[in-house]
Amino acid sequence: MPIHRLSELAYYQTGGSCVRLYLPKSVSEIQDAVREIQGLSQPFFVLGGGTNSLVCDDHWPGAVIALSRMGGLRTLDKNGNIFCEAGVDNSGFARFAVDHGLTGAGWMNRLPGQMGGTVRMNARCYGGEISQIVKKITCVDLSGNIIVHDDPSKVFRGYKDTSFMQTGEIIASVEIKLEPGDTLATRELMKFCEDDRVLKGQFTHPSCGCVFKNDYTVGVPSGMLLESSGVKSLTRGGAIVSPQHANFVFNRDKGASSRDIIELSLMMREAVYARFGVWLEYEMEILGHLPADLAKAIHEVRARGSETPELEALRARFALSVRV
Ligand SMILES: Cc1cc2nc3c(=O)[nH]c(=O)nc-3n(C[C@H](O)[C@H](O)[C@H](O)COP(=O)(O)OP(=O)(O)OC[C@H]3O[C@@H](n4cnc5c(N)ncnc54)[C@H](O)[C@@H]3O)c2cc1C
Repeated sequence: MPIHRLSELAYYQTGGSCVRLYLPKSVSEIQDAVREIQGLSQPFFVLGGGTNSLVCDDHWPGAVIALSRMGGLRTLDKNGNIFCEAGVDNSGFARFAVDHGLTGAGWMNRLPGQMGGTVRMNARCYGGEISQIVKKITCVDLSGNIIVHDDPSKVFRGYKDTSFMQTGEIIASVEIKLEPGDTLATRELMKFCEDDRVLKGQFTHPSCGCVFKNDYTVGVPSGMLLESSGVKSLTRGGAIVSPQHANFVFNRDKGASSRDIIELSLMMREAVYARFGVWLEYEMEILGHLPADLAKAIHEVRARGSETPELEALRARFALSVRV
């Protein structure tokens, strides 16, 4: 069997290899893949666009199911209902919707990734969140059975949290409800999203977007905590912190390993804890075989330190910047 280089599938362009790669084109091919993998008693992971993930450097002895060939996309009626398979990329979806006279998905333009990964992560940006427009989700469970969720409130559990993170169900397709209407404002929003991300240098080098989640109980975005902890000067091998956004780790000129990226993120988390007593939670999903030393470090949890004057001052500064 051929060896597949996972770095060629991963948005970060790092990662090892695997032997068993499935590229299903339909829900029944996903079912077949899951049943075959289970029959072989192998572990597996799912890859969408890989834009929120880091694939580990080691050879992965299990299987990978990549959804990029699940590209079906069509309107279901004239009322704004759309059928969309998991592998459709977000920008393509946003363009399709607006070209069909529908509003409500403009915020997805230039959000890297595919529909399936976007639903699993409950991605959000520019005032939108995928949970607001998804009406029905068709999945394949770990035994290869089809599961249909027609009550989205049961799967979307809030900020960056969905039931799929526990069940491991594979999202095959979704039905989305948008609104027919004047698309001028949507087209303007799409342009704004594109320009803003380019202006912020988000596509300068491969990344996974924000490495860490925001903790809304802190009252300051994680990017601001990181910036104020001086992490922008940190590097590890070919991994650097984005000069424009302290929560982005870049694979500079594709010269980083996944280990470099993880080790740099650990240094960043440590820096924030040392300065503000806040222990950041990872948003980046780590796929594949994580070496034991990195797993131990990543899974460490520390309690919030006592309130510091530095954190209070930063909170005040943030509140002021929001008001301005
Ligand atoms: C430059 C940049 C900017 C970004 N900006 C934002 C932003 O503004 N807001 C935001 O929320 N995110 C942002 N992200 C993160 C990322 O774009 C989103 O989370 C995106 O929705 C992930 O989709 P994906 O297909 O790439 O997921 P992947 O990275 O492929 O997968 C993410 C997780 O979902 C699982 N998964 C993937 N597909 C499926 C499926 N079909 N069924 C079940 N599980 C699946 C994977 O195993 C993994 O655990 C950014 C990323 C980059 C690189």
